[in-house]
This record gives sequence, C-alpha cells and structure tokens, in this order.
Amino acid sequence: MRPFTTTVFAEMSALAARTGAVNLGQGFPDTDGPASLLCGAVDAVLGGRNQYPPGPGVPELRTAVAEHQQRFWDLDVSPEDVLVTTGATEAIAAVVMALTGPGDEVVVLEPYYDSYAAVIALAGAQRRTVPLRAPDFRLTEEALRAAFSERTRLVLLNTPHNPTGTVLSRAELELVARLAVEHDAVVLCDEVYEHLVFTGAEHVPLASLPGMAERTLVTSSAGKTFSVTGWKVGWLHGPTELVAAARAVKQFLTYVSAGPFQPAVAAALALPEEVFTGFSADLERKRDLLSEGLRAAGLAVNRCDGTYFVTADTTPLGCTDATELAWRMPELVGVAAIPVQVFCDDPAAAPTLLRFAFCKRDDVLHAAVERLAALGPRLAA
Ligand code: PMP
Ligand code: GLN
Repeated sequence: MRPFTTTVFAEMSALAARTGAVNLGQGFPDTDGPASLLCGAVDAVLGGRNQYPPGPGVPELRTAVAEHQQRFWDLDVSPEDVLVTTGATEAIAAVVMALTGPGDEVVVLEPYYDSYAAVIALAGAQRRTVPLRAPDFRLTEEALRAAFSERTRLVLLNTPHNPTGTVLSRAELELVARLAVEHDAVVLCDEVYEHLVFTGAEHVPLASLPGMAERTLVTSSAGKTFSVTGWKVGWLHGPTELVAAARAVKQFLTYVSAGPFQPAVAAALALPEEVFTGFSADLERKRDLLSEGLRAAGLAVNRCDGTYFVTADTTPLGCTDATELAWRMPELVGVAAIPVQVFCDDPAAAPTLLRFAFCKRDDVLHAAVERLAALGPRLAA
C-alpha cells in the first residue's frame, strides 16, 4: 500500500485549511441535506437504535433501496439482494476483494476515482484503463476493447463519472455490455451521482440494459444524493450470489454499518421527486456559475453533464503542469483544486487539467471566481 499512503483529497483539504484557501478540491457540499433526513437521524439516536443493526442492513433501508430503484430506474430489485455498506467505498472494496485476486484484471475508466486503484491493489489484481479524454471524455469501442483480455474478471464502471462529469450514453453503455458479455465479466456500476445529472443528459443504469441485470452489481450512497457525505451510508445490489460474496467480505471489513443513519436514509429515499430534481437543478446552476468564472479567468472549461465536478484546462494560462500548479494555487490565489493527473496512469492523460468542485454555496463560488481572476496575471508575473 506504499503508493497509497495519503489521499489527494485529505492532503488538499488540509492545505486549503492551512492557507485559508477556498476549497474547491474535495467534493463535499457546504450546506446540509433535507431537514427531515437530519431529524430522522436524531430521532433514531434518541429512540434507542444505537446497537449493532443486522449485518445486511436494517430491513426498512433494504426495502427503501429496492423501491427507489424501481421508482427511478424501473429496476426490479429484491430487498434480500440489497446490502447496506459503509458508503459506496466499502461496497466497492467488498466487491473487488470478493471477486478478484492475483491474475485477474479489472477494467476501469481513466481518470479513475482514487479508491479503485487502491482496492484493486489490495486484492492483488491488476487494473486496465480505458481513456476518457478532454474536452468531451467520450468512451470509444477501440479504447474499451483494448482494455479487455482473457483475464478480465470485473469492470468497475462509474457513471455519472468523477472526475470528468461525463454521463455515459446508452450507446456507450451498450458497448460495455457487449464486451462484458463477450468476456463473461461482472460489472460493478458506481452510480453515487445517479441523481446529479444536468439538462441534456440522462442517467442510464447499466443494469437496465437487456441481459445485464444478471452480471451487474450497482452501488450508490446517501452522501451525494442528500448532501450528507459524512454519514457514509451506501448500498449494493445485484445477483444474489454476487451480493452474498460481497457480504462475506463486508462482515470482516466493518461487520455492520452505522445503525441510526439507516432508518433516516430509508425515509429520505421515499421523498417526493422534486427533492431530487430540485437539488440537481441547483447544482446545474452552480456548474454554470463556476464554469463562467473559470472561462473569465482564462481557463478552457470542458464538458460536464453531471456530478459535483467540472474540469478545466490550464494550458491557455501558459501552464504545462497542473499538478505542480494545484499544490501552489492555494498560496498563489487562495483557491484549492485537484489535479486530474493524479487519477491517471498514462502520464500524458491530463497533465494540464484541474478538477473544481461546485457543490458549494454561491458566495463561496463567487469568492473563488474572484480569486481565480488573479491566476493568469500571477502566473505571467
Ligand atoms: N465513488 C465515487 C465516484 C465517488 O466520487 C465517491 C466519493 N464520494 C465514492 C465512490 C465514495 O462514496 P462514499 O462516500 O459513499 O463512500
Ligand atoms: N468523492 C470525493 C471527491 O472525489 C471525496 C471523497 C474522499 O475524500 N475520499 O472529491
């Protein structure tokens, strides 16, 4: 685990705190989720739900996840096949450890979320990357095909995609489905941003494609949907035997997940549709606010159809190394961002891209934009 000793998110947040920079690095909202959700957790704590819950999760949350999947995505899920996890992070770790080992390959989109590389290494498996490249970050058949081999055991897919903001189209998902079937691979679909999709794009769950439910595991989490990233309540569902394999691992990672938050999340998953759509509409506006500011500051803003994040190219400012710039930027202009290259194996993948989180209050985004206007002049000085 030596290459994985510290996460870029923790380091960048610490640097932002130390320098007083506006933190557009780590993706967490700076406002709370729905009041009823927060009160639900308080009620559960005061109502005595403070001992170990059942290992697979409290029944009302497993049922609520199944109902949510039916309501939003028309997926037929049995509560028996839902496993509650400590965030999506644990679901991903449990699946990768359960299904892969030395000699196996795991296909991931590049750039990839940082925990993917770490858990694949923990399992002793190898990652094979499929490039998504700026400015549109589309998936091509050629690139996808090149990553598959006779050793492919698992595809670890993420849509809507962190850090690029890409939402995979139905046609792109059909490519993934075809190759997964051809190679008899399981797909784990990380859909933590399932509700954070903007005008013109549509989230399509891979499990809804013909023939895919039987080989697709799905993970999501309350953190992003309800702005409670610190609660770490996630879930996994899919074919019975695959979920059972992940459950066996989960038992010895955390045994069970946070008790009182589970009934609260169960109730929130049944909230009216406007709560879900209202949040993404608000985020879309924030994407536009920040993107405009980044453009005004001279950066080239890439396409972003969902998630908390937009990427921008620093080349127009004369920058050739955005990783070096990201570590200097908090001091230089008082804004923190994440260099996209840290999520890539290919050194030429994204050397000049920065990822900015826009899940922040408007006044915070305005302050960031104002500070970023000084970036070009400071770099030129
Ligand atoms: N997958 C992706 C793509 C993420 O961005 C994150 C970070 N929120 C996670 C998984 C982890 O989610 P959680 O906090 O629920 O463990
Ligand atoms: N998912 C969040 C991000 O991408 C951070 C989560 C973490 O700090 N591990 O910024």
